[in-house]
Amino acid sequence: LVSRKKHPEDTVVSIKGEKVGNGRQRLIAGPCSVESYEQVEEVAKALKFHGIKFLRGGAFKPRTSPYDFQGLGEEGLKILKEVGAKYDLAVISEIVSPHDIEMAVDYVDVIQIGARNMQNFELLKAAGSVKKPVLLKRGLAATIEEFINAAEYIHSKGNGDIMLCERGIRTYEKATRNTLDISAVPILKQETHLPVWVDVTHSTGRRDLLLPTAKAALAIGADGVMAEVHPDPAVALSDSAQQMDIPQFHEFISQLIDSGLYQ
Ligand code: PEP
Ligand code: MN
Repeated sequence: LVSRKKHPEDTVVSIKGEKVGNGRQRLIAGPCSVESYEQVEEVAKALKFHGIKFLRGGAFKPRTSPYDFQGLGEEGLKILKEVGAKYDLAVISEIVSPHDIEMAVDYVDVIQIGARNMQNFELLKAAGSVKKPVLLKRGLAATIEEFINAAEYIHSKGNGDIMLCERGIRTYEKATRNTLDISAVPILKQETHLPVWVDVTHSTGRRDLLLPTAKAALAIGADGVMAEVHPDPAVALSDSAQQMDIPQFHEFISQLIDSGLYQ
């Protein structure tokens, strides 16, 4: 169902009246984790300033250590929904359990399925059974074929509003947190008709690489770029090393605009 051979036309996903996959490249930005209303609101204001429509924030955090901040759960989704309504932004948040999919539909505009859950088939089927766009991230060590099959799982249950997100894969290279597989973008565009995003934050894990990788993503034809922004990354409860603060985010956007790759 997701194959370009079967459906040559691009899928355009409509999210709160905004379109993704229609040739105009977009940005998703927001904190790694939702920590408080004030924190999310501060980021929302920065997005609004740049006309960015997609606000992300994790409420259910799939952390490597069980002792790390696990997210605010449903309370976090509530905060996102409130801020999204106040600033007219579409909100995106990761859901980690199939049992939470129905609940999440009331709060978010896009359900994110994270890298660690790319092959959680029950979760994929649950996300495929609701009417809500899904942002599916590539697994840490997933091949492109496995990634496409994961999208197929969602579509097979009836939900065709799927967007793919390349977020780096695990390789022997340690200079970056993951290795951004930039060639996955044109391959996914050729093999499927789905919009393709690139997450520059989790792929690089390095603030100094956000701008060059975002440029590369836009230049190679990604439909959009995801990046994490936090009002005070030093005290962030997750991913404090690579989130941008608000002045850095303004600089990031203006450099992207100056590059001519983003309007
Ligand atoms: C995220 O986007 O919040 C996240 C945890 O990313 P990933 O699933 O790609 O690691
Ligand atoms: Mn993060």
